[in-house]
Amino acid sequence: MARLNGQCNPPKFQTDPLPAVAPDGAPAGPRAGRFFCYPLGMPRFVPVLMVLLGALSGFGAEAAGSRPNVLLISIDTLRADRVGAYGYRRAATPNLDRLAREGVLFERVITPVPLTLPAHASLLTSLYPPRHGVRDNGEVLGGSVPTLAEQFHGAGYETAAFVGAFVLDRRFGLGRGFDVYWSDFRLHQFAGADPGEVQVRGDRVEAAAEQWLRKRKSAAPFFLFLHFFDLHGPYLLPAAWRGKFPGRVYDGELAYVDDLIGRFLAALAGRGLANNTLVVATSDHGEGLGDHGERNHGFFVYLSTTRVPLLVRLPGGARAGTRVRGLARLVDIGPTICALAGVPPKTGLDGRSLADEIAGRPLAAVPAYSETLYPFRHFHSSPLYALRDQSRTYIQAPRPELYDLAQDPGETRDRAAEQNAVAASLRGQLTKLVAAMQQAARPPAPVAAQVAQQLRSLGYAAGASSMRGVVFPPPAGADPKDRIAL
Ligand SMILES: [Zn+2]
Repeated sequence: MARLNGQCNPPKFQTDPLPAVAPDGAPAGPRAGRFFCYPLGMPRFVPVLMVLLGALSGFGAEAAGSRPNVLLISIDTLRADRVGAYGYRRAATPNLDRLAREGVLFERVITPVPLTLPAHASLLTSLYPPRHGVRDNGEVLGGSVPTLAEQFHGAGYETAAFVGAFVLDRRFGLGRGFDVYWSDFRLHQFAGADPGEVQVRGDRVEAAAEQWLRKRKSAAPFFLFLHFFDLHGPYLLPAAWRGKFPGRVYDGELAYVDDLIGRFLAALAGRGLANNTLVVATSDHGEGLGDHGERNHGFFVYLSTTRVPLLVRLPGGARAGTRVRGLARLVDIGPTICALAGVPPKTGLDGRSLADEIAGRPLAAVPAYSETLYPFRHFHSSPLYALRDQSRTYIQAPRPELYDLAQDPGETRDRAAEQNAVAASLRGQLTKLVAAMQQAARPPAPVAAQVAQQLRSLGYAAGASSMRGVVFPPPAGADPKDRIAL
């Protein structure tokens, strides 16, 4: 919580059905109208049928003879409720809103951890943090944990990633399975900087990815991962954008990233690839923006930092305008992409495919798990664990909390004392889930001495020993609620 960014109060988590078209009235960006064009004569229904029939029948798109490209975009630190398509009236997100109109929007998506590296490890392995072993930034994903990129690579895809933050640098293990992993950080230029702030601006990420797209020669489909870090402080908004959102720096950064996404999607369309590319846009975690006293993220597990957007545009625009209300999880994205692309999924994952939800067949509800060890590791406080179902949030803390999301979507009125039986039931489910995960838990990978030294010089306490003392339920200790002011 070293950095504090001045923000205005965001709107609360919406529980009512939201309009499919963004109500923000924001004009489309300069490139917004270009990226989703179908070549004349291209039958739109062909990829639609391939993909949807694949998802519905259990036969993937591969079986149908066509494998779509996959573009997975992570907009770091993006709160769902700051996107126009999610109901934010002051949003300037025409490209994300268009993705929502032309694709499927998941209204309630929960990240398992509001920290960049652990959350991306979950996104790219479909495992909860105790099972992939990365519980904090600066740790390293173990070499035996299967990754989504490896799955696609193994299925004959060309794989590439372009990341905007040192936190996701290749030395932390997420590069496995990618033919190209662009993590272009010149650390000597950041001497003395907080390692969590080392980044490249989104225009460089977008340009590098566009160049890769232009130069690629492979006839194989691609799996491309783009990561924009601009919504994460410190803000590096280009001068031309700074004056557009006075007093609303977060919205301004989002508008900037939205424009870059529009630019990349236009490049995709310009090369005739839009029609056969599955586009998925999401985030690793939200941002406190002052809710619950938290400016940034990582310290708490409230929806302000654990609810993220998820937009899925199918090839050919199938299911355009669909909104899914059921609870979904970041760990579900990998299996969903696999199902839609016809790539055989791994077994034993924490996530599950949401292809049925996309096809209009709601799945039986499963709760969503979240955790943060950040207050424990860095602030001598208790770790926090949360379990959410469709209507409630339970938080395991020295003073447990319970929220009724239908009545209180902002999680501001703790009902734990008055609804003791409900709290006990959710605590029981959470305890069982954590116990099962601990059985299959992995430690983070040991860090090579040279890399550890490098990380220490950057301020990371790298190494598995840092997990000592992490038990569930957490021992009585300082409640993070009482420490936020610090
Ligand atoms: Zn992040």
